[in-house]
Amino acid sequence: MTAMQRDELLYLLYEAPEQELFARADAVRRTHKGEHVFVRGLIEFSSHCVRDCRYCGLRRSNSAAHRYRLTPREVIDAARLAVAGGADTIVLQSGDDLACEASTIAAMIRGIREELGVVVTLGCGERPPRDYALWREAGASRYLMKHETADAALYARLHPGRTLEQRLEALRTLHGLGYEIGSGFIIGIPGQMPEVLADDILLARELGVEMCGAGPFIPQAQTPLGGEPQGSTALALRVLAALRIALPDANLPATTALATLDPIGGQRDGLRAGANVLMPGFTPDTHRAHYRIYDNKHRVGMDEARAAIEAAGRTHSLRREA
Ligand code: SF4
Repeated sequence: MTAMQRDELLYLLYEAPEQELFARADAVRRTHKGEHVFVRGLIEFSSHCVRDCRYCGLRRSNSAAHRYRLTPREVIDAARLAVAGGADTIVLQSGDDLACEASTIAAMIRGIREELGVVVTLGCGERPPRDYALWREAGASRYLMKHETADAALYARLHPGRTLEQRLEALRTLHGLGYEIGSGFIIGIPGQMPEVLADDILLARELGVEMCGAGPFIPQAQTPLGGEPQGSTALALRVLAALRIALPDANLPATTALATLDPIGGQRDGLRAGANVLMPGFTPDTHRAHYRIYDNKHRVGMDEARAAIEAAGRTHSLRREA
């Protein structure tokens, strides 16, 4: 990291005129990623979690959280609906559910690969390296694990008993096993110094991530940070634009958190500020409301994803009957 790079990022994040910044990011996106918006079908298959992150509604101390765990068959059926609607990749996400056997998750991956033939991305948190290896053998090729914040002291405060170094070690292990890795961070989490967002972008670049998801903090009432103010959409869009300029080839989602803060325009504006990915939800209706990392989580469905992509003037492969 040179001082110059950090200074340039700080300029982009906090000083560059907004329209100039978004236009530059959009031009970089066009050159490096083209007009197509990739659509990832998100299936949240378990709301159990052994961790206690202070901002998350799934934390183990939250006795009010409803816990569920889908079977491999339920996951594969949900994936089938997503693929029929035009999703190009399936993302299987869960809390750090260590009671969910690695072999059960491997069965989900194998079923999707064999029955539907699409790429499988995992976001199952920190597990023993042998689990990552098993899932890689079963056919998973990408892994999402946000580093959350590049400030090690803040990371330790937000994640009781855990360290940023453990997180980065897990990401390096995944990379070493041949996964394409995705990281990301929270914008406006209480205790975050403004300049740390530049460090977050530099860290994502240093990790060699293929994907990076950065969304605004949204409080969840039953957590220790439940009374804190939410992050700003305007800053989240600036971060997205700066990410696009710093990581021109990365896949960058317009996050669901953006849609939660601004249901109509959040994702469209994200696509205009450098994003090239949307992640509509395919968690079965019976459980969707229970995967509550933060409050009022907006459900982005296929129709909404299509509307956002078309409003941004971009192309997609979604089907109307979805
Ligand atoms: S952020 Fe992830 S690891 Fe932390 S409590 Fe929530 S689901 Fe668990």
